[in-house]
Amino acid sequence: METDKDCIFCKIVAGDIPAEKVYEDEKVLGFKDLNPVAPFHALLIPKEHIATLRDLHPEHDGMMGGLMRAASEVAVKAGLDEGHRVVGNCLKAAGQEVYHIHLHVIGGRQLKWPPG
Ligand code: AMP
Ligand code: ZN
Repeated sequence: METDKDCIFCKIVAGDIPAEKVYEDEKVLGFKDLNPVAPFHALLIPKEHIATLRDLHPEHDGMMGGLMRAASEVAVKAGLDEGHRVVGNCLKAAGQEVYHIHLHVIGGRQLKWPPG
């Protein structure tokens, strides 16, 4: 499995940096975002280091399906009964800060559309 020793999310997967875990399976990890933008804000990441959503290949299809399903599971478990949002920022125009794929799971308040 690909990892990057300088990547903050790979360090979380390795257990070298603490995180408040909300989901884990063989290929996916979920944890609370350090700077929440809503009452509930978690990140779902592949355990494998993949820099951006544009670096996905067909071999990742199963993992990404699991990542999306895990996002729903986390939202339901968090009691976001009114709904939630799943967001993936890709590259700088979208504001991607951490170059290890992650989906934001955000909820617990009314969210505006379109996003800023
Ligand atoms: P993005 O702008 O989509 O790349 O989002 C990166 C997210 O990672 C931001 O919402 C940060 O608050 C979050 N983040 C950065 N470092 C950590 C960390 N050590 N633990 C939890 N969340 C983090
Ligand atoms: Zn990484």
